[in-house]
Amino acid sequence: MTIPELYAIFKQHPSVQTDTRKLQQGDLFFALKGPNFNANSFALQALEAGAAYAIIDEPVEGANGRCIVVEDVLTTLQQLAGYHRAQFNIPFIAITGSNGKTTTKELVSTVLGTHFITYTTQGNLNNHIGIPLTLLRVQPDAQMAVIEMGANHQKEIEGYCVYTKPTHGIITNAGKAHLEGFGGVEGVRKGKGELFDYLRAHEGTAFAYNDYDYLHNMIQGVKHVEWYGTQTGTVTGQVAVSEPFLGVYVQGVDGVQQVQTQLVGDYNLPNVLCAITLGKYFGVPGNKIQAAIEGYAPSNSRSQLVEKDGNKIILDAYNANPTSMRAAIENFAKLHAAEKILLLGGMMELGPESIGEHEAIVQLLQQYPWKQVVLVGGDFAHVTSPFIYLPDSLAARQWLHDQHVTGAHILVKGSRSTRMERILEN
Ligand code: ATP
Ligand code: MG
Repeated sequence: MTIPELYAIFKQHPSVQTDTRKLQQGDLFFALKGPNFNANSFALQALEAGAAYAIIDEPVEGANGRCIVVEDVLTTLQQLAGYHRAQFNIPFIAITGSNGKTTTKELVSTVLGTHFITYTTQGNLNNHIGIPLTLLRVQPDAQMAVIEMGANHQKEIEGYCVYTKPTHGIITNAGKAHLEGFGGVEGVRKGKGELFDYLRAHEGTAFAYNDYDYLHNMIQGVKHVEWYGTQTGTVTGQVAVSEPFLGVYVQGVDGVQQVQTQLVGDYNLPNVLCAITLGKYFGVPGNKIQAAIEGYAPSNSRSQLVEKDGNKIILDAYNANPTSMRAAIENFAKLHAAEKILLLGGMMELGPESIGEHEAIVQLLQQYPWKQVVLVGGDFAHVTSPFIYLPDSLAARQWLHDQHVTGAHILVKGSRSTRMERILEN
């Protein structure tokens, strides 16, 4: 079956599902394979559960006319997504970078959503499966699409651009994340830079944070660039307050002087400025931009403030890498609070640089007068430090419980697999 033929079926059944447990009547079921699963074996079950068709790439016993056999289901999903994308003549805004993609995506789509019918990545569905699924969810009434792209190796973003065809793009930053797969910071810049490469070749528009010198190099040759920054750009802004929520002075948008966010951490400054810049660029009125940013409260364990047992907990436990860990610690150090406690999980995927990066975090921590620091799991196990070490977040939760702390500020952060958010569970 050709992609246009499959697309005709998709138009009749525009809801795509890859998980039989979430199937709804009339869905198109794509039987994907992974290292530990092969959904071809669920194809008939999917049909019984109400799927209109099942797209498969292996012989399935008992297959019937509602099984569509293709060479490779994942490739077909991506090609179908690309075909669907090509039906739209609207801005497709791609967001990549080492840190702050999801936060920027949420802010940008909230701002644009006040003025345009906007479709965006749900949660963190930013990979080779999540991106095509996101594209296929864009409805005919769409006026804007905002697509998060994650990557941990070279050529990944290039591949996503082939079917996403972004017209606009943002690289939030390129720091120390996924060092293992990219091969060092230079590798990260090259890999993330594939988004600018695409925009350069297709006369797209880039948005970039003026304060990062390396972005100036990466962006060379891109014809249209909108800068934002603390000093110069289409929109400029500076930290006004960060106690603990970030407030930003803003210049460059009519009627907007200061924006008060519900995000913890001054490292969110570029994310906020980026969203304001896109709002201005696409003609969203200043008062709508301001209201959108002020109304956005994270509920996704990113830059979130949670009150519990009389403590103020900064829950930044969605993930961590050396750049974001450093930013979170330095921000926490600036807060005016009598008692500060840190519970920090290990940072993953750092390859040979892992031990050194964990040592650097320990050294950074030693520069400040915390009440207590607890290091949890990962390569924190393999560095010498004056701090408490616990093997996992459940042990850390028990430790915190036993302290009977109240009235403290507590920073909770770590890589996804350390599941540091469990510290808040009862
Ligand atoms: P992922 O790779 O998991 O998709 P992401 O790039 O989408 O991550 P977010 O989920 O938005 O990033 O934020 C993760 C964490 O990164 C935040 O909780 C915060 O600690 C840190 N962070 C966010 N924005 C920035 C920034 N501009 N610079 C440095 N660190 C940041
Ligand atoms: Mg993300």
